[in-house]
Amino acid sequence: MCAAISIDPVTGRKLFATRAAKSSERIAGKGYSIISDKTLTTLPPPPPGAVFNADEQRRYREFKEARAGAADYMAMEGQFARYLEDVYSEPPVPRDSLTDECEILVIGAGFGALLLWYRLMQAGFTDVRFCEKGGDVGGTWYWNRYPGIACDVESYSYLPLLEEMGHIPSVKFASGFEILEYCQSMAERFGFYERCLFHTTVQATTWDEAGGRWIVETDRGDAMRARFVVLANGILTTPRLARIKGMETYKGEAFHTSRWNYHIDLAGKRVGIIGTGATAVQVVPEIAKVAKELFVFQRTPSSIDVRDQRATTAEEYATWPNEPNWAVNRRERHALISAGRSALQANDDFLSGKIASFKEKKTHERQLSPKELVAAQLNTNFRIMEQIRARVDAIIKDPKTAAALKPYYPYGCKRPTFHDEYLPTFNQPHVHLVNCAPGGVKEINERGVVHEGVEYPLDVLIYATGFEWMGTGSFNMIRGRDGRTLREKWESEGTRTFLGMHSAGFPNLLIMNGPQGGGGQFNFTRVSEMHAKYIAWALETVKARGARSIDVTPQAEATYAEHCAEMDLLSAPLRDCISYYNGDGKAKPGSLAYYGGGARWHKRRMEAQETMAPYVFD
Ligand code: NAP
Repeated sequence: MCAAISIDPVTGRKLFATRAAKSSERIAGKGYSIISDKTLTTLPPPPPGAVFNADEQRRYREFKEARAGAADYMAMEGQFARYLEDVYSEPPVPRDSLTDECEILVIGAGFGALLLWYRLMQAGFTDVRFCEKGGDVGGTWYWNRYPGIACDVESYSYLPLLEEMGHIPSVKFASGFEILEYCQSMAERFGFYERCLFHTTVQATTWDEAGGRWIVETDRGDAMRARFVVLANGILTTPRLARIKGMETYKGEAFHTSRWNYHIDLAGKRVGIIGTGATAVQVVPEIAKVAKELFVFQRTPSSIDVRDQRATTAEEYATWPNEPNWAVNRRERHALISAGRSALQANDDFLSGKIASFKEKKTHERQLSPKELVAAQLNTNFRIMEQIRARVDAIIKDPKTAAALKPYYPYGCKRPTFHDEYLPTFNQPHVHLVNCAPGGVKEINERGVVHEGVEYPLDVLIYATGFEWMGTGSFNMIRGRDGRTLREKWESEGTRTFLGMHSAGFPNLLIMNGPQGGGGQFNFTRVSEMHAKYIAWALETVKARGARSIDVTPQAEATYAEHCAEMDLLSAPLRDCISYYNGDGKAKPGSLAYYGGGARWHKRRMEAQETMAPYVFD
């Protein structure tokens, strides 16, 4: 046996040492700065009389229709496969292939997997193995390390197990670097590292009906057997490129934001960035601080809300730990306000329990129908967007640039972004917004980007073009009872799951944070926590019944899929723009995320756990 795999003398279980070393010490940075200028950290008031009237509705519609069909993405294959290489770790630690058996095999080593491991330990499951594509833990926070990266959910509610870890984040919106280090300390503390096979990509997961086991094959030559498989490999993990004519001819340096190449020094360079989503909004101000010239190629502007970053105060460090379960309580309070903009602003007095309610509940003479509620929400939403647009005018000096930076779609229709330095960056003389609306960048040549006949020669081209949403490659490689992959099943029948966590015909397979998953509103940590608890319950139930496997009935998932579609259609007016949330306008209702909110998901989950009707035990 090689050094990377050893046997625990007490339990006889295999222990792994496959965590790869860091490839460079230069990979470190900060997220949002603390800004003292109050004009940059406060939204202007909405213009008087702002109403989402017919003219404004038409304007939104035209903005959307102009972009219809423009989204064109491709996978990183062929010559672009190099953009997927792991630039953060030394090469994989050599190890023997494994052909043994474990009870639970988890794909992924991000937040979901770390939380799941903690819950499984608590429930007494120890024969657990993790397979991770990267060289270390962290998932999203492992791959995304671009300058300026930070989390937009307040870190006191986002970071899991803060009490257990005895930790309080240093700022309200933690940087990705702080979060990655936190993941590493969780992994060390809870004995995760010795259970994880790093630099190991699962390539096939096949149900063996006779043996009642999954056979899990990897790119390291493994063919392991597992009783249960859990997918904890994320929903925005596969980076994608915009498909642009001539991109293969470009001779300068290029990379995607989720493989930030710190070996390329941007200082003094002409840098171009394609895309202006949540990633670009965080990274653009940081590039502008070092580059000689920066060209931002924009198809659609993001909504740029205020961030108002702040440090954790001495009082908070001292007093919060005095409240038993402070972190869990805070996350639950955060979940209570997880609607619209308020969650993302996160009122500190309410969240810390100092005040009982953060705003008066509106009372209506009669209860509004769901449709009326959406109409009322659209009006409020319009006023927020007017403030967002007024902020652009207040900050941006050049009127043409200001006009191009104003988004016309409902708040939250595309992922809302937050920054107090992004807009002012465009007032700097070396930063240029290249407005490529509505079609986007269409041509690249060997020197750089070409738009409307103008060539922009670049030393470095950065793709901030995002990820496949809910498109994790693993759905293509999981074969259930009837030999079909999960993707094949969903393509022929539409997305079919129960609670987003089971799919009929795929026994003993549990999905965390997948399509139609729910339970935690905006905060993915809460979703992961709920899913981890649910999985522990499911495994305990199988064990207690002396069963071999757990599956769900086709009827249960058909009913659930119908419910997901209904919820999606109900809230669709709030997502009426071209966004990855709706598959760039092409997704069938209910096929991607679950828009039913936390409470509805929990109601269905609890009913199922009580009646046991949706489950089939073998
Ligand atoms: P994204 O939101 O998918 O953005 C991709 C960008 O590329 C869009 O602006 C898109 O324009 C643009 N684009 C695509 N093709 C183009 C072309 N040919 N020409 C010009 N522009 C083109 O990806 P992302 O910014 O990486 O964000 C992905 C998600 O990751 C976020 O929404 C968020 O959920 C997560 N994230 C979170 C954080 C955080 O917590 N703070 C930070 C970063 C990312 P269109 O809008 O016109 O399609």
